[in-house]
Amino acid sequence: AERYDPKLRAAHLAHAALADQLRAAVDGTVAGTVAGTGGFAVHYQPVVDIHTGRVAAVEALLRFTTPDGTAVSPARFVPVAEETGLIGRLGAWVLERACTDARAWHATHGISVTVNVSGRQLRAPSFADDVLATLKRTGLPGAALVLEITETVLVTATVEETEAVSRRLARLRAHGIRIAIDDFGTGYSSLAYLRTLPIDVLKIDRAFVSRVADRQEKALFRAVVELARSLYLQPVAEGVETDEQAAALRELDCGYAQGFLFARPMPAPALQTLLTTQLTPAP
Ligand code: C2E
Ligand code: MG
Ligand code: MG
Ligand code: MG
Repeated sequence: AERYDPKLRAAHLAHAALADQLRAAVDGTVAGTVAGTGGFAVHYQPVVDIHTGRVAAVEALLRFTTPDGTAVSPARFVPVAEETGLIGRLGAWVLERACTDARAWHATHGISVTVNVSGRQLRAPSFADDVLATLKRTGLPGAALVLEITETVLVTATVEETEAVSRRLARLRAHGIRIAIDDFGTGYSSLAYLRTLPIDVLKIDRAFVSRVADRQEKALFRAVVELARSLYLQPVAEGVETDEQAAALRELDCGYAQGFLFARPMPAPALQTLLTTQLTPAP
C-alpha cells in the first residue's frame, strides 16, 4: 500500500535516481574515464591548533555534483553509496586522492590528512591491506594519516564484527596510522566503552561544541576533554563557528579545532595557497 503513497513514491524515485547518478559517476570518475560533467571531488577543511591558529591537519570531505551541476550533500549521498555498495570503490578513490594530495603537504608543512571511513568499508576483510597498499603507492607515511570512524559503526556491529574491526584498526595503528572517533557526543557510547577500542583522537561533535560558550555546558565539555586526555585521546572540536566558542576551547585547552570560523572545506589548490601563505613562523 505504501508504494502508492505519492510522497513515498517520489522519495523512492529520487533515491533511485541518485543511486543511478552515483553509479554512473563512480564508473566515470573513479574508473578514470574523463567525466564530461559532474562527478566527484575531494575538498579539504583545515584542523587548526587552537592556540596558534596554524593548520595541523586537513579533513578530506567528498563532494558530488550531478550532471546538471547540482551539488548534493554527502549527508544525503553517502548513505545511498553505502546501501548500494558503491562506497567500496568510492571510499578507495577518496583515500587514494587524499593520500596523493597530502603527500607534499606533509613533506613541506608537516600536516596530516584525515579521511572518513564508512562501516561497510571497515567490515571488508581486505580493508587494512587496501589502506597499507594505498600508502605504499602514494608514498604518504602512516603517521600522516588519520582514519575517522563514527561510534555508531562500532555500536551497531555484532561482537564478532567489532572484534574483527578492532583487529584491523590495531594492525593499521602498528603502521603509525591514527584512528579518530567522529561526531562524539551524538551517539550512545560512553568513553569507558570507547577506551576498549584502538583509537587515538576524539572528534567532539558540533552539536556539543555549539554550546561550549555557555556556563553550564562548559563544565560538561571540560569533563569530556579531561576524560579524553586521561584516556590518552587527543580531543578535537568540530564545527567551531564563533569567537566565543574558540575562546572557550582555548581556555579548556582543547588542543585542536575545525570549523567555519577558521576555514571552510576547499579544493586542493586553495588549500595549497593557504598553507603557503601561512609559512611565516608561528607566534
Ligand atoms: P563529518 O565527517 O563530521 O564532517 C564534518 C562536516 O561538518 C562537513 O560536512 C563539514 O563541511 C561540516 N562543517 C565543518 N565546520 C563546520 C561549521 O563550522 N559549521 C557547520 N554547520 N558545519 C561545519 P560535509 O562535508 O557536508 O560532510 C558531512 C558528512 O558526510 C561528514 O561529516 C561525513 O560523515 C560524511 N562524509 C563526507 N565525506 C565523506 C567520505 O569521503 N566518506 C565517508 N564515508 N563519509 C563522508
Ligand atoms: Mg569526519
Ligand atoms: Mg564529524
Ligand atoms: Mg558528521
